[in-house]
Amino acid sequence: MNKKTLKDIDVKNKKVLVRCDFNVPLDKSGNITDDIRITSSLPTIKYLLNNGASLILMSHLGRPDGEPKKEYSLLPVAKRLEKLLDKKIIFEDCDIVVDDKVKADALKLQSGEVMILQNTRYRKEETKNGDALSKDLAGLADIYVNDAFGTAHRAHSSNAGVCKYLPSAVGFLVEKEIAVMGNALENPKRPLTAILGGAKVADKIAVIENFLNIADNIIIGGGMMYTFLKAQGYNVGKSLLEEDKIDLAKGIIQKSKDKNINLYLPIDVVVAKEFKNDTEFYTVDSDSIPDDFMGLDIGEKTIEKFCEVISISKTIIWNGPLGVFEMDNFAKGTNSIAEFIANNKEAISIVGGGDSAAAVEKVGLADKITHISTGGGASLEFLEGKVLPGIDAVDNK
Ligand code: AMP
Repeated sequence: MNKKTLKDIDVKNKKVLVRCDFNVPLDKSGNITDDIRITSSLPTIKYLLNNGASLILMSHLGRPDGEPKKEYSLLPVAKRLEKLLDKKIIFEDCDIVVDDKVKADALKLQSGEVMILQNTRYRKEETKNGDALSKDLAGLADIYVNDAFGTAHRAHSSNAGVCKYLPSAVGFLVEKEIAVMGNALENPKRPLTAILGGAKVADKIAVIENFLNIADNIIIGGGMMYTFLKAQGYNVGKSLLEEDKIDLAKGIIQKSKDKNINLYLPIDVVVAKEFKNDTEFYTVDSDSIPDDFMGLDIGEKTIEKFCEVISISKTIIWNGPLGVFEMDNFAKGTNSIAEFIANNKEAISIVGGGDSAAAVEKVGLADKITHISTGGGASLEFLEGKVLPGIDAVDNK
């Protein structure tokens, strides 16, 4: 990895501006329902404090669309962080994120003190990477640290723009994301198996194309598998189908043959009468989906085959559920894959995307996975082989 990390910079008596991902889920009363994103940022925050820095933390939360909106205030985050750090935190409830008071408070900040700014998306410039906000933010500090992987695929003022005006480094979270995923893509222990699920082929084309260059095995499941089954000439009944992607699926099947990559499609499918949990369902071979049924999960024979491939893999990258895992009757494929990945202790396992991460958490196996990516969109773009602008902007070593 060629980006500067926390260990490459001297932060003693410096004011460090840290871009965190505090985009936490809130209930209707504004209570945080899951604080993993806050707790995940603690190693970076604590390291900086222990090394004599003062901190100015910032993040976006939800989509206030460039205007101050109370329901997207970072106040609940500031309160939770205060508890987690057992330390007073200065919360700057400023509608324009940075004003004269914020500037004056930042100037007074002493080593060991922590300030948190208001939601960066209260300002319209944020998502347009506008210079005025980048300058306002950079003006508060001596150094910038990016620890928000989840927004790294976007060039915004608080990640890309701000790097123009301050020396910069990545935090521990971002460092781990790019080290583990980068290594798996560039220098994988083989066989490398990519498991790709999720609703649509359209969303995953670029990832599949990238894996056609680097993987040994590609496993396809989820809603998108029916377009591949159709491409093989099978009837898919009422299953999800992207008519306009059938030729593309044919092309992918052909390319995998040309490149000698094993492309695994489901052998059998759990079909349902309706798109709901409590409905008639049973398992059929992939080439025998009845007209008035829809495929909502992979079947037992497929689970067995996929698990065989997983068990001999040395690097496993998984993105996207293999069925409608939100409904118990159609969660078996996804849960089984999660279990088999976790049980392969020889392999480096990487799980990206909110749904697959949730599936691993649900079966209680998150701690057996080498790396669960914190960024859905960002990890997908990373797996596509794209440069992430939020990270690219950070200083090189
Ligand atoms: P994505 O956001 O593209 O990763 O897709 C995740 C969604 O795909 C989840 O909500 C799943 O319920 C859905 N999904 C997975 N398999 C199927 C299927 N066979 N039919 C319809 N939706 C599916």
